[in-house]
Amino acid sequence: MTPYDAPPAQAPVSEAAPNALLDAFARRVSYLRVSVTDRCDLRCVYCMAEKMVFLPKAEVLSLEELERVAAVFIGLGVKKLRLTGGEPLVRKGFMGLAQALSRRLGPGGLEELTLTTNGTRLAHHAAALADLGVRRINVSLDTLKPDLFRTLTRGGDLAQVLAGLEAARAAGIACKINTVALARDNAGEIPAMIQWAHSLGMDLTLIETMPLGEIEADRTDQYLSLAAVREELSSYWTLDDLPLNTGGPARYVRIRETGGRLGLITPMSHNFCEACNRVRLTCTGTLHTCLGQDDATDLRALLRSGASDDDLAGAIRAAVMGKPKGHDFRIGAGEAPALKRHMSTTGG
Ligand code: SAM
Ligand code: SF4
Repeated sequence: MTPYDAPPAQAPVSEAAPNALLDAFARRVSYLRVSVTDRCDLRCVYCMAEKMVFLPKAEVLSLEELERVAAVFIGLGVKKLRLTGGEPLVRKGFMGLAQALSRRLGPGGLEELTLTTNGTRLAHHAAALADLGVRRINVSLDTLKPDLFRTLTRGGDLAQVLAGLEAARAAGIACKINTVALARDNAGEIPAMIQWAHSLGMDLTLIETMPLGEIEADRTDQYLSLAAVREELSSYWTLDDLPLNTGGPARYVRIRETGGRLGLITPMSHNFCEACNRVRLTCTGTLHTCLGQDDATDLRALLRSGASDDDLAGAIRAAVMGKPKGHDFRIGAGEAPALKRHMSTTGG
């Protein structure tokens, strides 16, 4: 599969396995994102506070617990599993978990095992990830300017990320770049980043900032509407809408002049909930069925009270049945974040 091939479309409900996870609005949940740690080696300004207090180890699911919950989800028809964080590659034993989960790739199991990473440690792990069957990854990168990268990540080294991308591509992993659009910091660099990514055969997806968690910066100051970005890009490029729906908040266009694909994630200005196919598990074992709502199911308490896999499956089904119809984000001057949890806790 080339980076520009469309990901497999979601099977219609009628074709779904009889045990498929359905919610009250007949949406089929087939995609699980698992945050394997709340920790990170970077401190991106829109994601974390400078001095983050991380969770005590006892609160975080062990690798065995994470694998067990993931296996129950796979038994319930989850086909795509994304490992995220915090930074997944900083979790000790991460590759062991990835290896265990990779054994579930194949008919009747997972169709895709993937991860979202900041790329700082990718150079070390890319070849092993490819060997495990990881075919595509998302790498977050907001600028190609080393100084700005250091500022935005509060100390990161751009060269590490670029080396990680090179290693992943050399190992045959298709990389998609995720770029958060920031009004003050990278707005002017967006066209150059798109050109760079497309020249290397990589998709790039722009993300609007979302009001998650307390951070020092003023979010209204950082918010950049992708509708405005799209309008500007359209003044010099030809953007063709692509009929691609991955069940998430991204809409895709192909830019004729670069030949590459651009994703636009606009949680603030569009409602993408009607086709939502995903749920999220935090590293503490809390299941969130909506990124933008406070609904939560504590699977860790169940896990640690000796629950059977059937008990876990029952709790997951009940949680999915209560999946909210949609979210309600707002960024207004002086408004508190819509949700208290950080993106690094829920997983992007
Ligand atoms: N550390 C990994 C990384 O950076 O790719 C994985 C976790 S990170 C929380 C996942 C994604 O969430 C990243 O692409 C990041 O840019 C994005 N993100 C974090 N905080 C955000 C926010 N407040 N609004 C929008 N996107 C955010
Ligand atoms: Fe870390 Fe990713 Fe959050 Fe940046 S966006 S601080 S890399 S978890």
